[in-house]
Amino acid sequence: MVFKKPICRQEILDIKPYVPGKPIEEVEREFGIKQVIKLASNENPLGPSPKAVEALKSKIKDIYMYPDGSCYYLKGAIAQKLGAEEENILVGNGSDEIIKLISEAYLYPGDEVIIPKPSFSEYEFGAKVMGGKCVFSPLKDFRIDLFDMLEKLTSKTKMIYVCNPNNPTGTIVYREEVEQFLNEVPDHILVIFDEAYYEYVTDSHYPQTVNYVLEGRPNVVVLRTFSKIYGLAGLRVGYAVGPSSVIADVDRVREPFNVNMLAQAAAVAALEDEEHVKRSFEINNEGKSFLYDKFEKLGIKYWPTEANFIWADIGKNVKEVFQEMLRKGVIIRTGDIFGYNTFVRITIGTPEQNKRLIEVLEEVLLA
Ligand SMILES: *Cc1c(COP(=O)(O)O)cnc(C)c1O
Repeated sequence: MVFKKPICRQEILDIKPYVPGKPIEEVEREFGIKQVIKLASNENPLGPSPKAVEALKSKIKDIYMYPDGSCYYLKGAIAQKLGAEEENILVGNGSDEIIKLISEAYLYPGDEVIIPKPSFSEYEFGAKVMGGKCVFSPLKDFRIDLFDMLEKLTSKTKMIYVCNPNNPTGTIVYREEVEQFLNEVPDHILVIFDEAYYEYVTDSHYPQTVNYVLEGRPNVVVLRTFSKIYGLAGLRVGYAVGPSSVIADVDRVREPFNVNMLAQAAAVAALEDEEHVKRSFEINNEGKSFLYDKFEKLGIKYWPTEANFIWADIGKNVKEVFQEMLRKGVIIRTGDIFGYNTFVRITIGTPEQNKRLIEVLEEVLLA
C-alpha cells in the first residue's frame, strides 16, 4: 500500500514554535537542586491575590457545569472599572488567544501586519496562522518607532501592533507620539495596543489608550491581561477593549466557552483586590531601584523599564551565562531568542529573589 500523507496549508510551515521560560520543576529535575527561582516569564512574584484564591476554592465544586460563555460578571466588572460598555469588551483565554482571534477575524492571506522588532512573538504567530505578511519595524534605541511604522503603511496594511510597554525592552511610546500617529493611520487599519504591563507603568507620558476607544475611534483596540500584575498566568484570562463593531467581529470567531469557570471567578475577585495590585506595583518599583543600582555597580548596561522586567546587556555570551545561572538555581530569559546574543530579560522579583539573582549573576560574570 502506498499512503499519501495529509498536506497542511503552506502558509503555516514557517511558524516557529513559541519558546517558553524554563519551568522551575524542570530545572530542579535536571540539576538535582532545590529552591530554584524563576525570573523569566514576568509573573507576579507575590503570587495571586488571596481573594482570587478564595474565589477559586468556593467555585471549584461547580466545575462539572459549563462556564458562562458570555463572561457576564467579569465583562461587567471590567467595563465598570474602565467606564466602558460591555459591548466594548471581549474576554479571552489569555490575551494570546485574543491576538489569534483578531487575526482570524481580519486577515486575508497576503494582508500586511506591521510588527515591532524585537517584541512579543504572538503577533507574528497570529499573522502567520492566517497567511498574513509580517512587516517588521525595528525599534529605535529599543523603543517602538511609530514614525517608521507610518512609513511602512501600504494599501495592504491591515493591522499594526504597538506593544506598550514593549516586551522584551520595557520601554514605552508617549502620548504625544501616539496621538500624532493615530491621526496619520487610516481608519480602516486596526491599531492594537498590547498593554500587558499597563498596571506597572510609572511614566506620566504614558497614553491612556482606552480613552481613544471611548472617544469613538473606530480602529483602536487595547489588550490587557490577568497574567502579569494580577498574578493569574496559569488560569489564562485576558481582555480586549475596542469599538463595539470590532468586538462583535472578533466575537464571531471566539469559541463559545473560551474562558473557563475558575478563571472567570478568580479574575473578578482579583480585579476587586486593589490592595494586592498596589503592593505588587510597589514591590516592583523597589526591585527596580535595587537592580538598577546593582547593575550600575556591575557595569551592566540596562534600559529603564516601565514594566516588571529589565532588558540589559551583560556583554557576554548569554547562553553560557544562562546555563551557569541555571546550575546555581536562577532562571532568566536570554536575549538570543529576540536576536540579541549578549542580552538578558530579567523579571523583577521579591527583595530576596532580587538579592539572590544579583549574587548569582555576579558569581557567574566574574568567574
Ligand atoms: C505576557 C504578555 C501577554 C499576556 O499574555 P496572556 O495570554 O494574557 O497570558 C500579552 N502580551 C505581552 C506583550 C506579554 O508580555
